[in-house]
Amino acid sequence: MLRAKKKLWSPFSKRLLPTRTISSTTCGFLQNQQQHLSNSQRHSSFPFFSYNNNKIQTSSSSGFSSRFLFFSGKSFCSAQSSEKTNLRCWNCNAEPQNAPFLVCESCTTIQPVDHSVDYFQIFGLENKYEMEEDHNLEVKYKNWQKKLHPDLVHSKPEKEREFAAEQSARVIDAYRTLNNALSRAIYILKLEGVNVNEEETVSEPELLAEIMEIREAVEEAPDYQALKEIQSLVQEKLQNWSDYFASALRGHKFEEAKNCIRRMTYYDRVNEEIVKRL
Ligand SMILES: [Zn+2]
Repeated sequence: MLRAKKKLWSPFSKRLLPTRTISSTTCGFLQNQQQHLSNSQRHSSFPFFSYNNNKIQTSSSSGFSSRFLFFSGKSFCSAQSSEKTNLRCWNCNAEPQNAPFLVCESCTTIQPVDHSVDYFQIFGLENKYEMEEDHNLEVKYKNWQKKLHPDLVHSKPEKEREFAAEQSARVIDAYRTLNNALSRAIYILKLEGVNVNEEETVSEPELLAEIMEIREAVEEAPDYQALKEIQSLVQEKLQNWSDYFASALRGHKFEEAKNCIRRMTYYDRVNEEIVKRL
């Protein structure tokens, strides 16, 4: 395995990584591997790599589909829906008590989808790429599903059953999108009005060669432990590009941000392959 690892850490990586992360990823990676690993395990925004948590891992494995986002593209900076003065429950006419208004607090009736409420607002989170450690996304997601699940309204009128199906699907989509660093990056750029063409590839021979090497190592990995070691390398790469993306986003350097996303996509896909084999 050590041989495979050394192979992965070819000089390619030096040239491919953003300048500011080179020191932490090329020098002494092997020595600090344990530290890196534990750092990333703590990083709750990276579901793919929280391999101790089967639930999160399962949900993230379908993260790619969640990138096909369903929203109208109209103002995402608008105030939360409940602040709109004319918003009332379609069933009992009560005014919303809380934002966002997905369920009426008075009569528990599920409301129609309001596309001006973005995914961050659904979970009461700040519109920010880097999520706080205590974001409790999974807990909030489950709480919504307890209120919105279509099974809860199977005996209700068709109108509410439709709202339940739509709200529930949107909350699932919101959860999967925000729970994965790559899909969250793509989404937050969309909120900024920047679309990422996911078919657009990187025509950089070094990156492609590196990805091929990683894929080969994955195929040749003799056991679980070997795969985990490769995964931690991929995780490191993803984290570096994710940090670089966050920095580009803060500086409104959207082309740079898109470039980071394209690179993250390669590592994310390789990681999906690893997850399948684990
Ligand atoms: Zn109501």
